[in-house]
Amino acid sequence: MQNVIKKVVILGGGTAGWLSAALLKKVIGSNIEVEVVESDTIGTVGVGEATIPPIRLVNRVLGIDEADFLRETKATMKLAIRFENWKTQGEHYYHTFGAPGKSVAFCHFHHFWKRAKSLGYDSDLWSYDLNYLAAVEGKFAQINSKDPIVELPFAYHFDAGLYAAYLRKLSESMGVVRSEGTVIEVQQHNNGDIDALTLNNGQVVRGDLFIDCSGFKGLLIQQKLGVGLDDWSHLLPCDSAVAIPSERHTTTAPFTRSIAHSAGWQWRIPLQHRNGNGHVFCSRYLSDDEATHVLMNNLDTKPLADPRVIKFTTGRRRKQWHKNVIAIGLSSGFLEPLESTSIHLIQSAIVRLIQLFPHAGIHRSAQDEFNQQSELEYVQIRDFLVLHYYLNERSKDAFWRDMRQIELPASLAHKIALFKQTGKLFREQNDLFLESSWLQVMLGQGIEPNDHHPIANAMPKQQLFDMLQSVKRVKDEPLQKLPMHDRYIDNLINRVK
Ligand SMILES: Cc1cc2nc3c(=O)[nH]c(=O)nc-3n(C[C@H](O)[C@H](O)[C@H](O)COP(=O)(O)OP(=O)(O)OC[C@H]3O[C@@H](n4cnc5c(N)ncnc54)[C@H](O)[C@@H]3O)c2cc1C
Repeated sequence: MQNVIKKVVILGGGTAGWLSAALLKKVIGSNIEVEVVESDTIGTVGVGEATIPPIRLVNRVLGIDEADFLRETKATMKLAIRFENWKTQGEHYYHTFGAPGKSVAFCHFHHFWKRAKSLGYDSDLWSYDLNYLAAVEGKFAQINSKDPIVELPFAYHFDAGLYAAYLRKLSESMGVVRSEGTVIEVQQHNNGDIDALTLNNGQVVRGDLFIDCSGFKGLLIQQKLGVGLDDWSHLLPCDSAVAIPSERHTTTAPFTRSIAHSAGWQWRIPLQHRNGNGHVFCSRYLSDDEATHVLMNNLDTKPLADPRVIKFTTGRRRKQWHKNVIAIGLSSGFLEPLESTSIHLIQSAIVRLIQLFPHAGIHRSAQDEFNQQSELEYVQIRDFLVLHYYLNERSKDAFWRDMRQIELPASLAHKIALFKQTGKLFREQNDLFLESSWLQVMLGQGIEPNDHHPIANAMPKQQLFDMLQSVKRVKDEPLQKLPMHDRYIDNLINRVK
């Protein structure tokens, strides 16, 4: 198709729809019209409240004031995820957004730590990570340091409904048009491209490019264009979740909790006004009622609504961009929220679309590039999630025993073997998760590498111990000055507007 793109229609007003609208309008706005179609009757999925640090880039690009954002979306800060009972019942570890220690001379810090351990200097690797230290003490502040060793990378927890409303207000203030109504018919051109959407109120919405943000059903990408789904249930078999909000705790933790149960895991996301809770589970091992029972029994504050069950299939659309339709959000596929990656996938898809924007018409090469990059991103995140399950040592539950038997994708099997044998880790091309993430989950789930890098042997024993102590001092020093997380938020949101 060689037509100039003048109007983009976004079908769906959830997080995907409004984030796409806001970013598109902000970045290439004056050249295009953007219209969002959403149905109040259908509503949104209503979950999706934990994020990862790249979200801060979105806020920067959109010119969002952090205090205003926190006030409006009831957000809190997130430094890490605490994984409980994942390796074995009763054990826990943190996957933080930071990194332990300080890497030197092409060699990651954990090799030095491991050699010191073999020489009798036993210390916890996480105690060299400021994110971990702040998380366990419930502290937080933004640190603007020139030295990456004392940075405190963070993300947000926020109320999903308030977040979509916030993005809607922002988008409309930039000129995005909103049409309310349910799409009942989709018209196509002779070549299969989408031409227009007809709503139940008779309105017809025409466009040159359509972004399908219609949620799991993928109204355009799947129901109309039928691109198909690569089903990854054999690797990530959880297919259901039950979600419920509950009262907030008096102290707000600056991290998400992920608690393993007999056939899945429970999230707890602390917000300013409530907690978000949910139990992700596999229906082959647990019924909806049983899963709900587990969740209700493990809520540590009073429920604020009835539990709600959500069904899903893990996988990704075979093509995320097909004809003049780009699927963004749940319509593009789904990976369970274990590492809070779905909103990030929305962000990266819209950034990719902006970078490849077909202003002068759609070219096959741009579509192929978009689809290849999207596939790689999905596959890399999938493998990181599989890692958590595969490395478990829980023997009591059939689900967890079966997860240890799954046939791993070759690249993941290689990564695990390399770490086990040598302690070495390498970041794959553009992998969202850096070495420090893989390291924390591999160690946390119980891999003890057999070896460390020989560079760590070059340092005399006492110098090595001194180095560890000095890194620890550098990490501990800013901790003393950090305020409690709640106080930080209170100060920020009560700041004069
Ligand atoms: C259990 C669970 C937990 C999750 N937790 C996290 C998390 O912690 N972190 C994270 O990053 N992500 C999480 N996610 C993912 C996150 O919820 C989604 O990525 C995010 O909410 C975006 O959803 P969406 O906008 O694609 O779809 P939806 O919110 O479902 O929105 C779909 C939109 O399309 C509209 N629509 C549909 N059909 C029609 C029609 N016929 N006519 C008009 N409009 C229509 C609807 O009205 C709605 O506005 C989670 C998902 C699930 C299922």
